[in-house]
Amino acid sequence: MTAAPTTDPGPWQTGHEKVPAVMARLAAAHGADARWEWPRSRNRTGYGVVCWQVGPRKRDKRSTSAHRLAWMARTGQSLGRLQFVCHRCDNPPCINPAHLFVGSPQDNMADMTAKGRRGPPRPGRPRLFAPEAERIAALDGRSLRVVAHDYGVTPGTVARWRREHRPTPTGRPE
Ligand SMILES: [Zn+2]
Repeated sequence: MTAAPTTDPGPWQTGHEKVPAVMARLAAAHGADARWEWPRSRNRTGYGVVCWQVGPRKRDKRSTSAHRLAWMARTGQSLGRLQFVCHRCDNPPCINPAHLFVGSPQDNMADMTAKGRRGPPRPGRPRLFAPEAERIAALDGRSLRVVAHDYGVTPGTVARWRREHRPTPTGRPE
């Protein structure tokens, strides 16, 4: 048994070393231009996820998308909170940086709409959201009720997004 961590190790410490290793393995197995599917956890929309713990409590869990880390690992650049990494290959679990591009929230929304990943709102049912879209909603400074109405979800869902996509200190990838 190891003690629960009390400081935020960040994805660079827990995930950054792993993501490049996975990238190298996938490149060797499938070739530089192939689809590199993230072999570990995925979220409900199919994106690869890297999770880490910043404290002992359950709510001290943080996560970020594997393709986002892959882009940062390849370019050596960090990303701002409003810079989104989109797929040219329309394959959410793919982490091949050659298939990824950085876009604004508007680009990301347009991209998801074009690919049918952001369906029309269905009354009484939350839309299926990609993590990037959830992040956009979480950063929306308006009241929970107004944002929830706009996105077709409950205020509780928006509150959860805000917890999960809490801004991180500058210079640290989300
Ligand atoms: Zn791809």
